[in-house]
Amino acid sequence: MKKCSICKEEKELIEFGKDSRLSDGLKSACKDCRKKESEAYHKTKNGIISQIYSGQKRTSKKRKHRKPSYSKNELKDWMMSEPIFHKLFKEWEDSGYYSGLKPSIDRTNDYVPYMFSNIEITTWDKNRDKLMFDIANNKNNKTKKAVSKLSMSDNSVIENFSSAKEAQRKTGIFATSITQCCKEKLPHAGGFKWEYKKTDREIALELEIAGLKDQLKAAGSVVMGSSSKPRKIPVTLSEAQEQIVVDYYLANKDEKIKIKDIAAKYNISDNKVSDILYKAGVRIPGKRNRKVTYAEWRKKNWYW
Ligand SMILES: [Zn+2]
Repeated sequence: MKKCSICKEEKELIEFGKDSRLSDGLKSACKDCRKKESEAYHKTKNGIISQIYSGQKRTSKKRKHRKPSYSKNELKDWMMSEPIFHKLFKEWEDSGYYSGLKPSIDRTNDYVPYMFSNIEITTWDKNRDKLMFDIANNKNNKTKKAVSKLSMSDNSVIENFSSAKEAQRKTGIFATSITQCCKEKLPHAGGFKWEYKKTDREIALELEIAGLKDQLKAAGSVVMGSSSKPRKIPVTLSEAQEQIVVDYYLANKDEKIKIKDIAAKYNISDNKVSDILYKAGVRIPGKRNRKVTYAEWRKKNWYW
């Protein structure tokens, strides 16, 4: 028998959870009390934020996305500063903690990882509504991705399909081959090149980057990626975003723009800005560039 530190009742040892750090190998409070405690915590603002944050980490891992671009404390500061969070929390509390009204976080674009520019505070019911709406509008492509059929000669888009399966139905080319081709594991399928359909934003970014790379080359700067073997499109979104930072820096270089101003504009850390500029071969007057190897750089999951 052991006395619970919370309810002070003498209980069987089986009523206590294990904890190898403690001398008797058991938690000091009984399972019932600990459960009540954690339930109470999950009904507090801090508890909800903790829950949301660990959920986001789990989801990112499952979807092979980058980890959230912010720390738990940064998320907390942000949520606590949003009046909508306090409003939704109050509604949830007033409803007697109805699960559908529990505050949660939703991504504006499901393909982009968790970052402040891509999240909004909502409730579970609204989340579910949005999911149903997206599915109805063929927008939720987590399992179904739109593909484009491209000409072998000039890479121009000939036709778009809502999925590889749909492309198979309409062209008779195997969906598996099309998918392999989209993943760049096959050079072509059925006499065409294939890629996942790009959004207008991605296409605009690619054009912007192509122009910027030329500018950088003309200025004698180091161009990201190997220049002898130009990288195949699509340029990854994170690279595109780095390029925007470089672009912004170059455009405002003469105004003596500060690293911290760039960092604030794009909601990333000062070090990230320095590293991006360093990697792009852009020098920063008055500030020593921090040396980061490419391998080290890759490891850090850059995103904002
Ligand atoms: Zn107890």
